[in-house]
Amino acid sequence: MLRAFVDIVHPPACVACGVGLTLPHALCPACWRAMPFIERPVCERLGRPLPVDFGVPMLCATALAEPPAFDRARAVVRYDGPGREMVHRLKYGDGLHLVPAMSAWMERAGAELVVDADLLVPVPLHRFRLWRRRFNQAASLARPIAERSGKPLLTDALRRVRSTAPQPGLTRKERAANLHRAFAVKGRNAERIRGARVLLVDDVLTTGATAEACTRALLAAGASAVDLLVFACVVPGD
Ligand SMILES: [Zn+2]
Repeated sequence: MLRAFVDIVHPPACVACGVGLTLPHALCPACWRAMPFIERPVCERLGRPLPVDFGVPMLCATALAEPPAFDRARAVVRYDGPGREMVHRLKYGDGLHLVPAMSAWMERAGAELVVDADLLVPVPLHRFRLWRRRFNQAASLARPIAERSGKPLLTDALRRVRSTAPQPGLTRKERAANLHRAFAVKGRNAERIRGARVLLVDDVLTTGATAEACTRALLAAGASAVDLLVFACVVPGD
């Protein structure tokens, strides 16, 4: 009945371009070809595609030069073309019907991260932005992954404790300074972070400054390690 109701509100359509389809939560052939899926081999730390497969875990040049605080990141697509389009529709439009497809793809791309995780934590929105957009896209992506994997989801463990300037237009260094100590582990679930392997979930990984700040807050609260699962990530050179 719920499915029939959803079909009336949102008739089956391509999750990227909206063209009519017979199946829900699918891509049309054109978007399937254009979707910039990240294929293996990927950098063990940053999850970015690597040009050659040597059959052993490899790191990209960025991961070697500037190792992130998180252990491993995995993404479904490059933040480009229809992949970028889906992130924007989820973030700024009415994109809740994209969540089943996006979260299922994330679960596949980050399968080993999900298995290893003790619990999932979405990157929080600022309270003001939560009010304006009315929902946290990171939490909406993390929820079905947590439900299907049976892992706890702590939506209120990580909080923005300091209002930050808007991020666009800032350099990597400026973003890092802007976000320094912007997050903290708080609330009644904070003690569950101690000793836990946390899977941090977000929609997109751009400069990595937000993921880095959240990871540092989780590690400061006693998390044993942090992995990062996103839908899209910026790959230098795109
Ligand atoms: Zn399409």
